[in-house]
Amino acid sequence: MTSLTPEQISEIDREHLWHPYQPMHGAVPPYVVSSARGVYLKLGDGREVIDGMASWWCMIHGYNHPRLNQALHEQIDKMAHVMFGGLTHEPAARLANKLVELTPEALQSVFFCDSGSVAVEVAIKMALQYWIALGESGKSRLVTIRNGYHGDTFATMAVCDPVNGMHHLFADVLPKHHFVDAPTCPSDEEWDASQIEPLRQTLERHHQEIAALILEPIVQGAGGMRFYAPEYLRQARALCSEYGVLMIADEIATGFGRTGRLFAVEHAGITPDIMCLGKSLTSGYMSLAATLTTRRVSEAISNNPPGALMHGPTFMANPLACSVAIAGIELLLSGNWQQRVAGIEQLLWQGLKGFADHPAVADVRVLGAIGVVEMREPLDMAVTQKILLDHGVWLRPFGRLLYTM
Ligand code: PMP
Repeated sequence: MTSLTPEQISEIDREHLWHPYQPMHGAVPPYVVSSARGVYLKLGDGREVIDGMASWWCMIHGYNHPRLNQALHEQIDKMAHVMFGGLTHEPAARLANKLVELTPEALQSVFFCDSGSVAVEVAIKMALQYWIALGESGKSRLVTIRNGYHGDTFATMAVCDPVNGMHHLFADVLPKHHFVDAPTCPSDEEWDASQIEPLRQTLERHHQEIAALILEPIVQGAGGMRFYAPEYLRQARALCSEYGVLMIADEIATGFGRTGRLFAVEHAGITPDIMCLGKSLTSGYMSLAATLTTRRVSEAISNNPPGALMHGPTFMANPLACSVAIAGIELLLSGNWQQRVAGIEQLLWQGLKGFADHPAVADVRVLGAIGVVEMREPLDMAVTQKILLDHGVWLRPFGRLLYTM
């Protein structure tokens, strides 16, 4: 097979390819990537640039890692894929064991699917089916905090921020859930007890119709790259238990060390009833996600009609994806990841704190391997990207946010 030149790729792309959140035939053509190694992307024009986005936050060990490549080579020679209905396999079993071991103890049941959005769909379905199983079908709404982001499918769009969640276009067809103001205290030191009031009041008033609270623990990602105090999570957990509402922690962006803890719920020492994992679950190599829950939830669903969780994607628990996920998790745990993330945090602070005084900058914040410069005005993505690439870095700003992960 002869290779296409970068120009031919761009031409076909311009004619036929649709990119995320972009028009067809957009004015700013995407950059061609010809290969990637470590932290570097090699562009079609021969430049090598540092990927400061970790490919939308998932590529935790870098590109083309020999151990991860090897895991895929070994698995592909055995079996690339097999259906999960009625069949099972070693990669799924080993990965499930690992996830159960690493996440909070009560999370014992694992449902694999193919993307973060679907993992959240499954979490929502679990929560609704749990209450139906207990004869409480009136509990059919969710509560969430503003500025959240949980995916692009219809059930997930309904719990993204209704204003800046990129989905307001569909407001009329989305189910209506409860939104409460997001906490603004960035840390426990600055905790202000009034922050939990909107959630408390909503639960007090509407708990009979609320199946679950869904939130991104500690870091709200695509909805604004905001950090909030672990105390909020502790109190939210206590309120969910008090009012008989399940808690769903969407750890798709925060999982696997990104915030300095293996999972962000560890900052607060809480156990959610349902947890979603994705992105760096496979170290960014393949599309795989997981929804974990407690035996209480999985058994209520399984022991009541229709006796099963009503979900089953074709590529569920894909053996290649599970194999690379196991290798990536072993690689993470075999290294001194805590010190390395703490080192990245320190470097980001040193590098970014000087911008805080710039008149165009509203805020600079850093947590774990996440560094954010929030501007006062929106950035022109194309212009900013070109300047950054001239400095050897790939970043993708959105709105007023310039950030790295
Ligand atoms: N939840 C969170 C917190 C996310 O950050 C994302 C993706 N940015 C998703 C869900 C959706 O994941 P995916 O893009 O794999 O569907």
